[in-house]
Amino acid sequence: MPQIKISSRLDPIKPSITLAVTAKAAKLKADGVDIISFGAGEPDFDTPEHIKAAARAALDGKTVGKYTEVGGTLQLRTAIAAELARVHHTTLTPDQVLVSSGAKHSLYNLFMALLDPGDEVIIPAPYWVSYPDMVMLAGGKPIIVETRAEDDFAVTPDQIRAACSGKTRAIILCSPSNPTGAVYTRAQIEALGKIVVEKDLLVISDDIYRQLVYGDAVYTSIASISPELAARTILVDGVSKTYAMTGWRIGYTAGPLPLIKAMAKIQGQSTSNPTNISQVATLAALTGPQDCVATMRAAFDERRQEMVKLLRAIPNVTCREPKGAFYAFPDVSAYVGKKSQEGSILDDDVQLCDWLCEVGKVAVVPGSGFGAPGHVRLSYATSMANIREGVGRLATALATLK
Ligand code: PMP
Ligand code: GLU
Repeated sequence: MPQIKISSRLDPIKPSITLAVTAKAAKLKADGVDIISFGAGEPDFDTPEHIKAAARAALDGKTVGKYTEVGGTLQLRTAIAAELARVHHTTLTPDQVLVSSGAKHSLYNLFMALLDPGDEVIIPAPYWVSYPDMVMLAGGKPIIVETRAEDDFAVTPDQIRAACSGKTRAIILCSPSNPTGAVYTRAQIEALGKIVVEKDLLVISDDIYRQLVYGDAVYTSIASISPELAARTILVDGVSKTYAMTGWRIGYTAGPLPLIKAMAKIQGQSTSNPTNISQVATLAALTGPQDCVATMRAAFDERRQEMVKLLRAIPNVTCREPKGAFYAFPDVSAYVGKKSQEGSILDDDVQLCDWLCEVGKVAVVPGSGFGAPGHVRLSYATSMANIREGVGRLATALATLK
């Protein structure tokens, strides 16, 4: 057998913990284990019927089996440019839009196009698991800045100032946040905008959850604050979460033309166009009726309230109110370091989560994957019955720890 040497580029790269937890729960379920999974952030709803109907109709046409332009069809890019221009109060041409195979792919292309070895990207923690690894894959250096729960997990201008070096290129803004559900206020966005201009940075605005905000929380676009900020903002967006279209794999980036062209060059030499039929479905999602979004948002909101109430009722668990996305991110540090009835010491949140999955029959994602040890993430994009049963299992299991 030849010895296969794997590229050292992968040395610092970890597998995605969200996907790993989800796969583990799915495997247990397939083996007949009764497990409740709060793992992957994926709506449990089916893709709305009118979106599926558009894709079905396209199947009978002659073009759906063909390649499209690398960056997506002009029709779709035109619709995306119009939608993003409206949301961000800016002007965008279809040339400034690149459609990719999910927002994850958009971000990957972006870091590959943007970063030279050693270039730094500021990533406020808790962060979505894939940001640091994608930055490292592109040869960049993630600079993790820990936000505070008492600041509602918003990064402060002073923290950014302290994190900046001569090599800082960009900061990632994810509001609503995966994993905390925090939504930056307008004042927080304005303060962030000031320092971005002062330090000559780019903002990578990951807006994948922008339509999922609850109560009195409002999504604020940093690009809408001033033309100067609009020129520095790279918008990353997609249909996975808003339209229950995770499996269709469509995300998009809009931003400065030279950057979009560079990303298109990478895409043209790697994956080519995103799936043709998914582009048809995305066009239907963006240009069709929007009441499906409101219906799903209302359901997520009810589940959010129930999950937070149940989590807060568990002794020694604290849970801030998530105001957007579909995750609760409770602090379970009181249970870290405790001993299970089987006799093992659960030294950190990863061990705690493994034990919860195997013994408690409930799958949650360890906070350390998001740069926040002592926490766990639960997705409430699942049924109310699962939420009640699953958080019940969590409470029962935790109560047995000594
Ligand atoms: N950004 C964030 C913050 C996410 O949670 C996700 C979830 N998958 C993505 C980007 C990528 O989404 P997708 O590739 O499904 O469009
Ligand atoms: N973004 C979702 C999550 O955080 C889906 C899984 C992934 O791509 O990480 O769970």
